Amino acid sequence: MQLKMTMVFGALLLAGCAGTGPDPAEEMLARMSVEHKVAQLIMPDISTVTPEDMREYRFGSILNGGNSGPGGDDKAGAPEWLALADAFWDASTAPLPDGAPVIPALWATDAVHGHANVPGATIFPHNIALGATRDPQLLRRIGEVTAAEIAVTGIDWTFAPTLAVVTDDRWGRTYESFSEDPAVVSELGEAQILGLQGEPGTDTFLGQRHVIATAKHFFADGGTGGQDRGDVRGDIDDIKAVHGAPYVPAIAAGVQTVMASFSSVNGTKMHGNAPLLDGYLRDELAFEGLVVGDWNGHGELPECTNTDCPESLLAGLDIFMVPEDWRELYDNLLAQVNDGTIPMARLDEAVLRILRVKHAYGLFDKPRPSEREIAGEWAMLGSDDHRAVAREAVRKSMVLLRNDGVLPISPSANILVAGEAADDIAWQAGGWSITWQGGGDLTNDDFPGATSIYAGIAQAMEQGGGRATLSTDGAFAQRPDLAIVVFGEKPYAEFVGDLEFLALRDSDGLELLERFKAQGIPTVAVFLSGRPLWMNRELAASNAFVAAWLPGSEGAGVADVLIADAQGAPRHDFAGLLSFGWPAECAPGSRSLFAFGTGGTYANPIAQREMTQACGLLDAGRAGQLAMFSRRLATGITATASENAGSAALPNLVGNSAGSLLRITAMDRDAQEDARRIEWRGNAALGLSLPEDFRVPAEGSVVLKFSLDRVPTGPVTLRGRQDVNLRSTLTLGAQKGWRTARIPLQCLGGADLRELRLEAGAGTTLSLSEIAITPESFTSSCEGPF
Ligand code: BGC
Ligand code: BGC
Repeated sequence: MQLKMTMVFGALLLAGCAGTGPDPAEEMLARMSVEHKVAQLIMPDISTVTPEDMREYRFGSILNGGNSGPGGDDKAGAPEWLALADAFWDASTAPLPDGAPVIPALWATDAVHGHANVPGATIFPHNIALGATRDPQLLRRIGEVTAAEIAVTGIDWTFAPTLAVVTDDRWGRTYESFSEDPAVVSELGEAQILGLQGEPGTDTFLGQRHVIATAKHFFADGGTGGQDRGDVRGDIDDIKAVHGAPYVPAIAAGVQTVMASFSSVNGTKMHGNAPLLDGYLRDELAFEGLVVGDWNGHGELPECTNTDCPESLLAGLDIFMVPEDWRELYDNLLAQVNDGTIPMARLDEAVLRILRVKHAYGLFDKPRPSEREIAGEWAMLGSDDHRAVAREAVRKSMVLLRNDGVLPISPSANILVAGEAADDIAWQAGGWSITWQGGGDLTNDDFPGATSIYAGIAQAMEQGGGRATLSTDGAFAQRPDLAIVVFGEKPYAEFVGDLEFLALRDSDGLELLERFKAQGIPTVAVFLSGRPLWMNRELAASNAFVAAWLPGSEGAGVADVLIADAQGAPRHDFAGLLSFGWPAECAPGSRSLFAFGTGGTYANPIAQREMTQACGLLDAGRAGQLAMFSRRLATGITATASENAGSAALPNLVGNSAGSLLRITAMDRDAQEDARRIEWRGNAALGLSLPEDFRVPAEGSVVLKFSLDRVPTGPVTLRGRQDVNLRSTLTLGAQKGWRTARIPLQCLGGADLRELRLEAGAGTTLSLSEIAITPESFTSSCEGPF
């Protein structure tokens, strides 16, 4: 009953007229030209749209994608964000002739764990960690802090929270989900929305310390069997019961926007799914806000491209997120309204929904971004108070899975803190942190004011009179009393993080734990990950094991729980409960080793289980099958660009050689940045090392998926221990779209192969979407074409 009341109330607030008097949105609509109406539906990315374009077109909104920042700079400081917000505001509010209504544009960002695109902001643990806290009050405060930090930079809208109920942890977005349990997602999602937007019916609602929230990705994004942008199949009522559940309280809490999912339900992409976008979301769930598309999500409909897609609008989408191709999409939509493909009534409906959200947000009464209540209050961004909330969240989210008594650690001990992740803030923050993928070449300096896990431990130990020494590789001069090993999954986002099975390929953490164990040094494993993974070997090799997820900027929260007070008593107990079951085996569909809801405390540690130490899938991988680059550079493979001037590392296979004779950029084949364009401006080589534990099959092939526009002008050589000439293969494949070449391993040095080098000279440009090794062989000739 109470639920229903809030729902009605939220809906009235949305209409902006509390049921009496004329609807200001309708009045405005009546005075708009068709051109300006269409422009309301278009959301370009700040990397491709300028304030001048805004002045000309009058778009309804803009976004900054995970890799976009003001002035083309991902790492631009907060004042530049606010200045750009002003510039777009000024452009969108410049007076128009003939009494046409002036409609300010909204700016949306992915503040999915704090305002993490902006350096110096408070970065909260990712949602999977927050799910483990089971603390809606905390979630609400996190929403409030995030909203305030966004408002400081003059931005209006965040694409959060994610309400995915993830049913297969192989999905690369599992960490964006609170839980596999719809009830947990519902409760925490609602709390976060109330924090972000404020409480409906109070004057804080969408006030100047709050922002517009987005419930995403509608719907069933977490049900696709671990595959990003996949398909959910089954009885629609069953699917709704699980994946639709969190939208009910979210809508009741007044969430203003819903983002359509890239994924499909029973074979129909959500961006073209009228029965679900209209019938379900509008009629059944009574959502009255606006539906925004995802990044070129409309272009993924079989009948659409990024530039041409009336189908999405007709299916119920209100805003097209069209980061780059906005000009052509605008032209096409306008033409389609003019020729009747799109009925005026549907256009008007979409524009009305957008205008109503703008009214509810008070956009027409708000001053210029920099003149709003807390805009430009830089001290608020990452303030001590805000960081304290994040630190509390870190503390409450850690889940204790093993403790034979080594925890808590006496602060007067002499301990070693090992592992590459120990002093790496980008790593502990995960994806969606400064950049889309996070990690890579980000350093601790890119996170001003943040604390690494090691730094937090060192501080606590110093206060207690003990000592913590950082040793990423685990070497030590003086034998420590105990070693903490910080290790886990390197940052990723979206499909880049999809896994075939639930194992960690990187064995650095395991090796450190086993080495300390052999030396008789007690260990505490601190596992950083975006999901539960098969950890049986690491659990067996450690005395204590803590799932710390992706804690964000306040690494000191880890020490708060691990390091005791001077009397040896815990300063904070463990409070986290698994919000996902933890797998007993690495194979998909494994039974649980630790069930949903598990979490030890100091008084009640978890009893030890029988655990299998083998993962057949991992071993198979070691025996001859290796995707070196497939959407991303695989773990354990180092890429380098070399030329005479020297060689440079290429994190995730992007970057330039020392003198820029070789340039490698990310490009899109089937999804964002899933392929690489390699351009030679002089003699240079791209090198890819093979992981040490990879057993190269004696017969077998190197597989290259490539495309090129022009026949190479000089030699192109693939070099192993022997060389293979690729010129004829590439000449034959030029201008033919994507092709696959399979080069016999024997021609490259067979089982002794340790590195592959692709060498060419000025004038060659090649795109690659996959580089792999397979035990299959296709030909034994070394002549080519392959
Ligand atoms: C992300 C964006 C990102 C882009 C990179 C998208 O999938 O959501 O935020 O900037 O890919 O191409
Ligand atoms: C993601 C969304 C995100 C959007 C904007 C997409 O790739 O799926 O979650 O909000 O990009 O960056």
